[in-house]
Amino acid sequence: MKGVAILGSTGSIGDSTLDVIARHPDRYRVVALGARSSLEKFVAQCERFRPEYVALTDPTAAAQLRTILARRGVATEVLAGDSALADLAALPQVDIVMAAIVGAAGLPSTLAAARAGKRLLLANKESLVMAGSLLIEAVRQSGATLLPIDSEHNAIFQCLPPTVAAGPDGRPLGVRRILLTASGGPFVDLPSEQFESVTPAQACAHPNWIMGRKISVDSATLMNKGLEYIEACLLFGVAPEQIDVVVHRESIVHSMVEYVDGSVLAQLGSPDMRTPIAHALAWPDRISSGVQFLDLLKIGRLRFEAPDGVRFPALALAQAAARAGGLKPTILNAANEAAVAAFLEGRLNFARIATVIEAVMDNMPNGSIATLADVLAADAEARNRACEFIVGSGKVTSMPRSGAGYRA
Ligand code: NDP
Repeated sequence: MKGVAILGSTGSIGDSTLDVIARHPDRYRVVALGARSSLEKFVAQCERFRPEYVALTDPTAAAQLRTILARRGVATEVLAGDSALADLAALPQVDIVMAAIVGAAGLPSTLAAARAGKRLLLANKESLVMAGSLLIEAVRQSGATLLPIDSEHNAIFQCLPPTVAAGPDGRPLGVRRILLTASGGPFVDLPSEQFESVTPAQACAHPNWIMGRKISVDSATLMNKGLEYIEACLLFGVAPEQIDVVVHRESIVHSMVEYVDGSVLAQLGSPDMRTPIAHALAWPDRISSGVQFLDLLKIGRLRFEAPDGVRFPALALAQAAARAGGLKPTILNAANEAAVAAFLEGRLNFARIATVIEAVMDNMPNGSIATLADVLAADAEARNRACEFIVGSGKVTSMPRSGAGYRA
């Protein structure tokens, strides 16, 4: 019986994780749940899964939850505040941590799980993009097991298992290329002249996946693929030039690895996050996930196309950040989070998200990452600059500057 902590339990990945866990009460026990403030969902999750602990970063919501649970006779201990999530990640009775907080706010708890040597199921790609070398080093030092939840990286992991040795340059031996697939998002065919008038609701209506709002917008700009490009370099030790992005509208092939002998290994499955979640929970075993099995005869056709770098410039920005290394991915991620938040709040045009990111990247020098303080300083600076560019874009006169949701 493995103890599981789900950080971001009230989100889309949190829901899917609890769904898989509920199918295997003989294997997994929910020890802890954590997120920000979604009270109703927390109450329902606590009543159903009876975790020992729950943490809300919003203290007001935490106090309300305490009262409701006491009234309903649920003996879950409620913690509050920013550091509570990291405390949950390091609990001794927790074997597996699902890191599914969205954005930079997930970094402290993801790092805490890595440092505590847990099996770390990484959905929160932003923490790897912003602090890649620190997170990978923390995993190495503690002996934690890092398993990717992003369907693409989970697919690559399945096609490129850790038994493939690294060469003297650190690259996996025998691997020629990684083919990172992308659905293309909701605007794959939309002419760029119409990008200006795109609404948040349209951007969040992904054709194949049901996801949270931030990652849905990232999918619409192709920044999600850019973040995944950086993530793949860090997770699999490949050079940026070894990764090709391929638009695959059906979202059935979740990514591929091409070997030097001409073999191409692909992982296929229905577009349902419960497959990578079940895979990472049970690895190296396999467990059922509840997903619909593939009917390839019904699907009939799988298409592959090159991405359109002109209509979707965010991808090239991320590829440049991957090549530059150091703090550039941190800067890119922070500027993107600020720009996406502004778009979702109606303060920035969809078409200007990439413009803001590019302006911030061009205006901040690169640097190396030695400590977490380097990451946090670059993150804060990039958010401030993004705010200036967003205000300068003319739609608003002022906006809040913080957004990372964590403290140094
Ligand atoms: P959602 O928006 O659905 O959920 C986000 C979760 O993070 C919620 O539990 C939310 O809590 C919590 N959260 C948000 N801000 C804070 C904060 N400041 N402090 C603490 N908790 C916070 O996102 P998704 O589930 O879609 O995505 C989660 C992560 O997984 C992202 O990094 C995303 O890129 C990644 N991912 C998601 C996929 C998907 O299919 N959804 C696929 C691959 C990766 P609350 O509800 O209380 O606000």
